[in-house]
Parts: sequence; structure tokens; C-alpha cells
Amino acid sequence: MTRSLYDLDAGQLEALVAEAGEPPYRARQLAHWLDDRRQPDPRRMSDLPGSLRARLADRFAGAGLTLERHQAGDGGWTHKLLFRLPGGDAVETVLMLYPAGRARATVCVSTQAGCAMGCTFCATGQFGFTRQLSAGEVVEQVARVSRLLPELRPGPDAPDHLTNVVFMGMGEPFANPAATWGAAWRLHRGFGLSARAITISTVGLVPGIRRAATEPLPVNLAVSIHAADDRLRDRLVPVNRSWPIAELLAAVRDYVTATRRRVSFEYALMAGVNDGADQAERLGRLLAPLRVPGSGGHAAHVNLIPYNPTPGIGFAPPSKAAVRRFRDAVAATGVPVSVRANRGVGIDAACGQLRTVTGRPGRAPAAPHANGARG
Ligand code: SAH
Ligand code: SF4
Repeated sequence: MTRSLYDLDAGQLEALVAEAGEPPYRARQLAHWLDDRRQPDPRRMSDLPGSLRARLADRFAGAGLTLERHQAGDGGWTHKLLFRLPGGDAVETVLMLYPAGRARATVCVSTQAGCAMGCTFCATGQFGFTRQLSAGEVVEQVARVSRLLPELRPGPDAPDHLTNVVFMGMGEPFANPAATWGAAWRLHRGFGLSARAITISTVGLVPGIRRAATEPLPVNLAVSIHAADDRLRDRLVPVNRSWPIAELLAAVRDYVTATRRRVSFEYALMAGVNDGADQAERLGRLLAPLRVPGSGGHAAHVNLIPYNPTPGIGFAPPSKAAVRRFRDAVAATGVPVSVRANRGVGIDAACGQLRTVTGRPGRAPAAPHANGARG
């Protein structure tokens, strides 16, 4: 079953059009709608003949994403969207807008419904895994957010087009490499996003990092580290038992050597768990030797994320003083470090801590909190 029209490549679009008895240029028109206009709905492809539109709509009736719920936060600069997938599962996609000057509009996409990695502090991880997304379902999240952007923008100083895509929503991208890389390529070739506008965040799956080192698409890599010693990391990130810190960093070192690209390390700060100055110094010492070949500059950049509290999960955000202390202790080792502004706290929409309001992320609840849901 085709999950999304974005799962069809140029050859498949041609075959589809030929089957319908239409000339080959119709396939190019269809691709133009999908990629340039980011229109996933064949009924709205207004310059295609009505018969072809009806045929496509009929043939792909069960495919595609349906917007089920929309919540706005941060005064309209952050939006959380819940999309129903074919088959009944659901995922969340977040849009983060930044005002003129930075003029960025970043979409945070999900690659899986749920996640099997079981990180103890992560709402998605605690709910477990439901299913893989297809590449097309990942791309369609971006397409649908693109089309919604004009009505989601809080004002004229907000960007009017998407500039960045981060794979930091539900799921572990490298546990679904086919969809992740398929989507990244389509966003690059079809949607025209530069590879540097795309970031893939991994919990630290070494085979995935090794593949990223050889993939010809130079996207950014983010590694969720969260702890500087194996005892603590085993507790927060269970896959650390398969790929402990030394192996993880060896893979990152090889990645940096092969690509000469910098890597960001995500560190969710949790009060009394991993926010001590000792962890910060240790983290700095681990990452300081990572250097970009040639220039010799630091290859690692630490991104501190104050933990976003999640009901039912026993972790708390750090104090402001602890964040500062941690940041300064990392900086003292020479490793570049920044604190990521918390987005969408009030709507549980911080990118990377997506969850539905109740229940499993897969089977989302009926939408009692619908807030201007659009179809
Ligand atoms: N599975 C991938 C990508 C999705 S999670 C990964 O783990 O990298 C994206 C980021 O958000 C990760 O760094 C994750 O650890 C972090 N995160 C998850 N829950 C969070 C929370 N409640 N507060 C702050 N960051 C969180
Ligand atoms: Fe999965 Fe990432 Fe959450 Fe870990 S932090 S459970 S890998 S989504």
C-alpha cells in the first residue's frame, strides 16, 4: 500500500500517468505539484484534468496525512500539529518560527510512531514503539506544514517559507534509516532544501552514524549524549549498553574525519541527575579532543536543553543557576556550548519531547482539545 504520494518516485509517477492514458508531461506536472507547490492532495492539483485528479484521489484514498489537532504556543511562534497516518496511528510535527533577523522557520519531523529506544526521561520513549513511517510520510509532514505556514504565521515579521528541517520529533531516525535518508534526499532534490538546512538527531546508534559518514548528502548530525559517563548514560539512554560512550565517540571521530563537518551534542539537563559541574567538566574533556581535520577547530558543539517536564516521568528541569554553571564549566574546557531556548513548553511541543495529551502516541485520543484543527 502506498502510504503517501511522496513515496512515489519519478518513474512511478510516469507509470501512474501512463496507466491513466495521459501523456508523460502530466507526470512532470504532478511532480511539480508535489515538490514545488508541496500539495499532497491530488484533488487540488488544479491544472490536471479532472478525470486524472479523480482517478488519483480514488486510487490513493487511504493514503496521506490528516491534520487532526493544532495547538499554538509562544504567542504563535511555535505550533504543534498532530497528523493522523494511514492505518490509524498518529505523529506530531512541530513548527518553530524565528523573527526577522534570524528569519528561520524550522519544522521538526517524526520518523516513527513512538520509539523503541526507551530513554527513561522521554515521553515518546516511555510509550514504546508503534510503527515505522515511510519516507513519504516524513516528507508529507514538511509539505503539509509548508502549506499551512501562511495561516500559522503570527505576523508579517515571521518567515513566509520553511528554511530548516530537523529530524527530532518522535522516533529514532537511524532506527528507520530507509525513511530517514529517503526523506532527506527528497527534501533536498525535490523541495530544494540545502543539505545544511537539514539536521538528523540520533540517540547514538553507531551503525547509523557510520552510514551518515559515507552518505553523499552532507546533512548536519546531532548526537543526544545527555551524560558523560556510562553508568549515568546507561540509566538515561538504555542503548548506551549496546554502544557505550567510547564507541559512540569513536564513531563520531571517524565521521568528523571523513566529512570534516562539526557535530552537535544534545544534552537535556535534568535537576540533580546530570546537571552537576563534574558532569560538565567530564563532558568537556570527552569532547575537546574532537577536532576538524585541517582547521583544527573544535568539531563538537554542546547544545544544552533544560529538561521539559513531562507529567508521570520523574525528572525535573534544572535551576537557572545550574544551567549557567554547567554551561560555564563546559566552556572552560574550550568546547563551544549554547543553551537552547525552550520552545512550546506550555503545549508540550518542545521539539523532541513530543507526545499526545493522553494515551499512546500511536493511537491518539479523540481530539477534545482541538484548537483550530484544519483538514
Ligand atoms: N531519537 C532522536 C531524535 C528525537 S528526540 C534522539 O534521541 O536524538 C530529540 C531530542 O530531544 C533528543 O536530544 C532528546 O533526548 C530530547 N528530549 C526528549 N525529551 C525531552 C524533554 N522532556 N526535555 C528536553 N529534551 C528532551
Ligand atoms: Fe527515542 Fe529519542 Fe526519545 Fe530516546 S530521546 S526514546 S531515542 S525519541
